[in-house]
Amino acid sequence: METALWWVRADARLHDNTALVAAAEADELLPVFVVDPRQYGERAYGGQRSFAFQKTGAYRARFRRETIADLRESLDDEGSGLLVREGRPGEVVPEVAAAVDADVVHFQALPAPEEREAARAVVSALGDAGVRTESHWTSTLHHVADLPEGVQGIDDTFTPFRQSVESDSRVREPLPEPELPPTPDLGRLDGGHGAFPTLDDLGLERPEYDDRGVLAFEGGETAGLDRLEAYVWEGDHLRAYKRTRNGLLGADYSSKLSPWLAAGCLSPRYVKREVDRYEAERVANDSTYWLLFELRWRDFMAFQTAKHGGQFFARNGIREREDIDWADPGSDPAAREQFERWKRGETGIPFVDANVRELNATGFMSNRGRQNVASVLANSLRIDWRRGAAYFETQLVDYDPCSNYGNWAYVAGVGNDSRDSAFDVVEQAKRYDEDGEYVRHWLPELRGLPPGYVHEPWKMDPEEQAAYGVVLGEDYPEPMVDLEASDEPFR
Ligand SMILES: Cc1cc2nc3c(=O)[nH]c(=O)nc-3n(C[C@H](O)[C@H](O)[C@H](O)COP(=O)(O)OP(=O)(O)OC[C@H]3O[C@@H](n4cnc5c(N)ncnc54)[C@H](O)[C@@H]3O)c2cc1C
Repeated sequence: METALWWVRADARLHDNTALVAAAEADELLPVFVVDPRQYGERAYGGQRSFAFQKTGAYRARFRRETIADLRESLDDEGSGLLVREGRPGEVVPEVAAAVDADVVHFQALPAPEEREAARAVVSALGDAGVRTESHWTSTLHHVADLPEGVQGIDDTFTPFRQSVESDSRVREPLPEPELPPTPDLGRLDGGHGAFPTLDDLGLERPEYDDRGVLAFEGGETAGLDRLEAYVWEGDHLRAYKRTRNGLLGADYSSKLSPWLAAGCLSPRYVKREVDRYEAERVANDSTYWLLFELRWRDFMAFQTAKHGGQFFARNGIREREDIDWADPGSDPAAREQFERWKRGETGIPFVDANVRELNATGFMSNRGRQNVASVLANSLRIDWRRGAAYFETQLVDYDPCSNYGNWAYVAGVGNDSRDSAFDVVEQAKRYDEDGEYVRHWLPELRGLPPGYVHEPWKMDPEEQAAYGVVLGEDYPEPMVDLEASDEPFR
């Protein structure tokens, strides 16, 4: 008689889940999700010039709560169940294992330092108690064991990494959902099955869905699979993905799968299988290829994190650059004021402000927006890039440590590419929001401006400002930084 625990992490799904499949081989199985208090409230960033920030904001907390509720429902439907407990995994998982006399604990291996530390604590405590542990790599498209040169051997630049996995690695087939054995008796455990805390309990205000946003992201495997179906099959949007992916408005310019991938409600291998099926049944073109190309970016960031560990999150980055004099909002009042304006979407640069206000109102921002707002903070204002990344960590519904910090470091010039990664924001705005529709969508105060001024309101003279009803410094801020004045912003 074997009893197993499945410690649920960023793999809240029944489909293609190696940890669950292995755990389901036992005679009894108890799935356990642990709400770690270190993931909520104000936390210290750590390292050089540490600062406090809110780990998880309301959008992601709501998404997680929905995710866990959906997982519980699916497990219940399969005759299983879900135990939810609050505390440090290194304490909670061994307590639960002891209470149900578990023989083995299966869990997902994750690449970022905090998650690795949590797993180390669980493995060490269970080892002391004589309980076996088995970790399973399930978060990426390519399995870590299938990397042609191993994690330490991967290139720090994306293109050689991609070429190497495209030619010398394969993507494993997704696993079917297993039959689930019954759960053990919880007799000795207090508190019943438990539940994910409410947003109130977490000290967060429950956000309303804002109908200006791209999608009402709902957490859970069910909603994730529905979104994949709607984007790929019902809407037939995949055939045009490469052309539309730099869009800014609406649900379907890109897949919007990121929140479900980050929480593990969707398996990237399952997404690939759907792409393969679409290619066989409908069309195979540069768009179908490109979605997999982007999933390999996601893999790249995960494996880079595994390779570089804490240095991936350090101010000088994996390139260990000491030549950048980052302004510190903690000690420099001017930088603090600029950072606060950037966070509120009041920089006076419409494309930046529109994107940040979308993030603040919905928890989401397009890839094009993320690149530009990050570039202004890190390259034009030279504010410590980790501050911006930590603000994204709070706000993003799809926050993933590897993709977030990896992309930020990349844009800030300390990460995975030595090429110039600074953006000419006005040029970008004119290119991707040609007639200003996106900016007007999020900045109603600029609705009256013609396309010629909507991205550069500072070019209006006082008479034009009066005529269009947008007086700078009154109706909309003066720009915080003169983007054209120096070569500095565009290294
Ligand atoms: C500064 C910055 C911060 C970012 N932070 C995050 C983050 O915390 N979480 C996150 O998932 N993505 C992050 N990204 C990557 C990217 O912006 C989002 O994955 C994408 O916008 C999500 O929308 P989508 O699912 O419609 O993407 P699609 O264009 O449909 O792409 C499909 C999938 O590919 C992956 N992907 C696409 N672009 C990237 C990329 N540049 N890096 C890694 N994976 C990618 C995502 O999983 C995405 O869901 C960040 C990018 C930047 C520039």
